[in-house]
Amino acid sequence: MSYAPWPEPFLQNMRRQLENPGLYKAFLEALGGRRTAGLRFNPLKTTRAQFLQLVPFDLEPVPWCAAGFYFDELVDHPGRHALHAAGLFYVQEPSAMSVVPALDVQREHWVLDMCAAPGGKSTQLAADLDHTGVLVANEIHPKRLKALGENLERWGSPGTVITQEDPSRLAQRWGPIFQRILLDAPCSGEGMFRKDAEAVATWSLAKVTELAALQRRLLAAAHDLLAPGGLLVYSTCTFNEEENERQVEHVLQEFPRMSLQRQERLWPHKQRGEGHFYAVFQKNDSDAVLPKRTLQAASGNLGHEETRLWSQFRRDYLLQVPLLDQDIFALQLRRERLYLIPKMLPTLVGLRVLRSGVELGQFKKGRFEPSHGLALLLQAQHCVHGLELDPDDPALEGYLTGHVLPGTSARGWGLVSAGGHGVGWAKESGGKWKNHYPKGLRRSGSVH
Ligand code: SAM
Repeated sequence: MSYAPWPEPFLQNMRRQLENPGLYKAFLEALGGRRTAGLRFNPLKTTRAQFLQLVPFDLEPVPWCAAGFYFDELVDHPGRHALHAAGLFYVQEPSAMSVVPALDVQREHWVLDMCAAPGGKSTQLAADLDHTGVLVANEIHPKRLKALGENLERWGSPGTVITQEDPSRLAQRWGPIFQRILLDAPCSGEGMFRKDAEAVATWSLAKVTELAALQRRLLAAAHDLLAPGGLLVYSTCTFNEEENERQVEHVLQEFPRMSLQRQERLWPHKQRGEGHFYAVFQKNDSDAVLPKRTLQAASGNLGHEETRLWSQFRRDYLLQVPLLDQDIFALQLRRERLYLIPKMLPTLVGLRVLRSGVELGQFKKGRFEPSHGLALLLQAQHCVHGLELDPDDPALEGYLTGHVLPGTSARGWGLVSAGGHGVGWAKESGGKWKNHYPKGLRRSGSVH
């Protein structure tokens, strides 16, 4: 697919930037070629070997990302598959997978993803944290925030907080508390020109200038939020030097404590992927005392009745679920809803928060009703009842559309699972499984 003609000022820029006519020709040819498509499996839920056994697609490894694979989008549609609804993988453009590994996230880190929606890189960061530390995924735009919330819920990561703030507010509120920051900046999207018609249609030189100013502002906030010794990765999906190399120069000039570790370009005529750029900075810590983290102790606000109802739900419907009992997580009650959240996290008072942790359920009129977020933390082996379906069973498609599922002698709540991985809840009613897949997520199709 090609969305040419490309804007003339863009072509002039590229001709100048690439200098060599042979390279420019190779670049144009690649830009006129087919876009690449990829997906990344979720190591919080499965292993590489199990994943490859479960999925029916033809996959080829992405060289720069251990969990990443290419697929052929003319043949397969992984985003519609039940294992996608189970959060077993995320569909992501292959070059975009190169950025998070450069951030070198370690267990226990506090990580900030400043511009996070729709969440491709956040899911990768959460996987690297492996249920330790904290990930704050921030996004300013309400519509994109919704997609971020859904994508992170499917991924199943109680250590994640989703905020909706301008990063300068986060900097004022928190100061330098993050050991790792990703700034995947809003950009002119030239690297997506063969993937996204809108990126071509909305491109202009004026927009590049405007975005470069926003990027400088976001970089200043990133600097203020980065702990001494911490790493910042700045990335874009554009070829434009104003938004890439000029921004790196700006950081080095403006913030003497920042040093450049490396920068990389991913070119469609050199790699099998779209255009991407990233730069890795470190903040030196020679003159600094590690700042005190602002902590919020999260545990212990369940009343006697909520504790009883939750324990009863666990006894009736769940077996051993190690994730629910990990010492770093705590249960928190907020407005009748029960959450599993990290015990230590940045204070959220005064900030707009979409969600912290995973919503486990709601207390309603003397009973506990499990939430979709809980289903996405579970496997069939964790549950007393359920409907364990083969990932390609058409009944799963029916479930995702809202259908009632046939036949059960069980009582109460059951987990609907694909290949053993939770997709959602169903509740026994008159010998059938009543569908509790969230209405807002249901696929279109007729519902019986
Ligand atoms: N990191 C995302 C991923 O991997 O899925 C893609 C991020 S996209 C390149 C940039 C995001 O920055 C957009 O979702 C945009 O809405 C958001 N954005 C724009 N201005 C922002 C601001 N002032 N603060 C935070 N996010 C902003």
